[in-house]
Amino acid sequence: MIIIMLGAQGTGKGTVAGILNKKNGWIQLSTGDIFRENISKGTELGIEANKYISKGCLVPDEITISMVEKRLEELKDEKGIILDGFPRTLEQAEKLDEILDSKGKKVDWVINLETPRDEIIERMLNRRVCPKCKSTYNLKLHPSKVEGICDNCGSELIIRADDSDPEAIKKRLEIYDTQTKPLIDFYNNKGIVIVEEISERINRFAEEACQDFMHRIQG
Ligand code: AMP
Repeated sequence: MIIIMLGAQGTGKGTVAGILNKKNGWIQLSTGDIFRENISKGTELGIEANKYISKGCLVPDEITISMVEKRLEELKDEKGIILDGFPRTLEQAEKLDEILDSKGKKVDWVINLETPRDEIIERMLNRRVCPKCKSTYNLKLHPSKVEGICDNCGSELIIRADDSDPEAIKKRLEIYDTQTKPLIDFYNNKGIVIVEEISERINRFAEEACQDFMHRIQG
């Protein structure tokens, strides 16, 4: 089972992917997390990726695609994979189809989370993340039980560098509109998109929303 999480920044893609991972054991493959891990370790990939991420730009397709291709190869025996943050361009989506096709697989479902634009910036500014287990919180909508501490693993929560820079946020949203949004039509044409419009529900009733997704996915 291959599932793609689509939606602008801060809509709850990581939250949904995390729940689907816990409930079904499907592996969450977040390109943003892989880049951030490489940045914090100072790897060659991290140094290169940070040149783009710190400005709110997309990491070039060739770097991102080859990173995902390698990771998919490592995960080839998994029963489910949730792609969180990939693809983000048509080129990535087409290449993903080619890679999966060569393995006799395909994208099964795309969960598209839609959030009104004026809410998105607020969400990014209020987002806190766990650097260790990658759990995501929102100071207003979904706070951790103890302020600043991850419910899941007890680590200190941090603000993502690209969430604290208003210019980078603006740039990321522009890129979402021009480069990532066209993917909704790309996957709609294949008839595999599940849309969740009540973004509020993802924060307050994420488990319930995920149960609905599961019903749709399992037919
Ligand atoms: P995310 O955590 O998904 O918001 O990703 C953080 C940043 O990593 C993005 O703003 C991009 O700079 C970069 N990134 C993540 N996924 C991709 C992708 N599929 N293609 C290009 N850049 C990406």
